[in-house]
Amino acid sequence: MQSGDGLLLRVRPKAGSFSIAELGAIADAAARFGSGEIDLTNRGNLQLRGVSEETYSDALAALGAAGLIDAEAGAEAVRNIVVDPLSGLDPARADIRKYAVALEQVLVQDRRFWSLPGKFGFSFSGSSQPRVGGRTADIMIAVPRRSEFAIFLDGDMAAAALVSADEIVDAAMRLAAVFLRLRRDDQSVARMKDAVAQHGSAMIFSAASLQRAPVAAAEADPVAISPAGPLEHSGRIFAAGIGLPFGRIIAREFEALCRVASRLGIEVVNTSPERVLVFPVGDPEAVMALLAEAAKLHLIIEARDPRLAMDVCPGAPACRNASTETRRDAQHLVDALQESLDAFPSLHISGCEKGCARRGTAALTLVGHNGRYDIVRNGDPSGPVTVADIALHEIAGAIKSLLRQPSP
Ligand code: SF4
Repeated sequence: MQSGDGLLLRVRPKAGSFSIAELGAIADAAARFGSGEIDLTNRGNLQLRGVSEETYSDALAALGAAGLIDAEAGAEAVRNIVVDPLSGLDPARADIRKYAVALEQVLVQDRRFWSLPGKFGFSFSGSSQPRVGGRTADIMIAVPRRSEFAIFLDGDMAAAALVSADEIVDAAMRLAAVFLRLRRDDQSVARMKDAVAQHGSAMIFSAASLQRAPVAAAEADPVAISPAGPLEHSGRIFAAGIGLPFGRIIAREFEALCRVASRLGIEVVNTSPERVLVFPVGDPEAVMALLAEAAKLHLIIEARDPRLAMDVCPGAPACRNASTETRRDAQHLVDALQESLDAFPSLHISGCEKGCARRGTAALTLVGHNGRYDIVRNGDPSGPVTVADIALHEIAGAIKSLLRQPSP
């Protein structure tokens, strides 16, 4: 993809995970053929930035040699699956990874699904909360009770189809096939949410030979929302979570982190839509050594770090649509507001109304235009503006004054 700072190369994990060797190859390719900046997206993908036309084929060759490139672009595009990064690690969660792997294989092999819209995605949660990392997907699989699985459709979180383990992959495919039929007849159906709004989830489930049953989606899961620092269950550490400030890391820092992880015997990393890397490791000393290295690199190692609650798009100069340097401005706000930001469970800084960094609403959204910002409270970038057209140096004061007013 072309961007303001050159070509952008997206690398998708396989069912939510990369090996440490693969991460090392990505970091090396980013340093040699790109600007050295790597983004972790809100779908758990890694993106190499600033690749030039001259270095593009070398970058592809390096990623291909590491087994990171799909044979065809359609296969890569359809592998849009977010997997609960704590599934299989946290004893409180079901291990749903094998179902994600199976669905990914079907999507890659069955070309019918390659015509799904580019952003159409699936998610697998190991808990009763279908939103992995607080984010929705078009088709969401959750586990309300052990040995019972629920498939939710975006646009209807009050009901789901309950299926057994044997049926999960097949049922998800049938639902995707129904979506494709509805879209073929009406191109205004861009995502599952549109199909649910127009036809109702009961009709979609029924067309996929499933039954809609009321299932209350569990409220937010605090561990899933901020999986940073030592992650434990009943006093036993099972992983280390390391957040990337505003989703970005520099290649040489990434290599340093991977070297330490490898030395500690860690072989894989799970990516989280909260822009956190989850390293499976049970030895407390190894966890502390990895977190110490991350702290040296100024990465996020505490769940209460305000940067974890912030979704920030690349902004200027990386994106041509942006007139504000969103990441620089985000850090300015963290420094200026400190713990005042705790009052806002989510903060979205968007370089324009497109809102790439976050789907849906946030407690506070800053939308850039002409080098200045609008503030939207409890909305998305296109929502009603609460404070209009202010400069960066005025934002902290405006937010403090919003704190004194009741939330709309
Ligand atoms: S939200 Fe706008 S400015 Fe930010 S990355 Fe997307 S298109 Fe660019």
